[in-house]
Amino acid sequence: MLIGLNRLKKIIDDTIEGETGIIHNKCIDCGFPVEVEVHKTSGGFGLLRGVLYEVKDRVYAKCLDCCKNNPKLNHEFESQEAANL
Ligand SMILES: [Zn+2]
Repeated sequence: MLIGLNRLKKIIDDTIEGETGIIHNKCIDCGFPVEVEVHKTSGGFGLLRGVLYEVKDRVYAKCLDCCKNNPKLNHEFESQEAANL
C-alpha cells in the first residue's frame, strides 16, 4: 500500500531542518537507485521523483517511470513480503 501519513511525518521529523526528507532506495520494479523527496505541504505531504510504499513497517520506493507503467505495488511483492515474516 502507499506509505502512510504517520510514516511520512516521521521521515520529516527525523530530518535536521524538519522540512524535506530524502529516501534513498532502489526502485522495486527496475532496480535502479531512486531518491524520493518528501516535502511538507499545506495539505500534508508531497512526494517528488518517485513514490513510496509501506509494507509491514518497511518502506519501498518506485521510480516515476515504473509508476507510469504500474502505479500499484506489485501483488506478488506484497504476498512475498508477508510470507517472509
Ligand atoms: Zn523503476
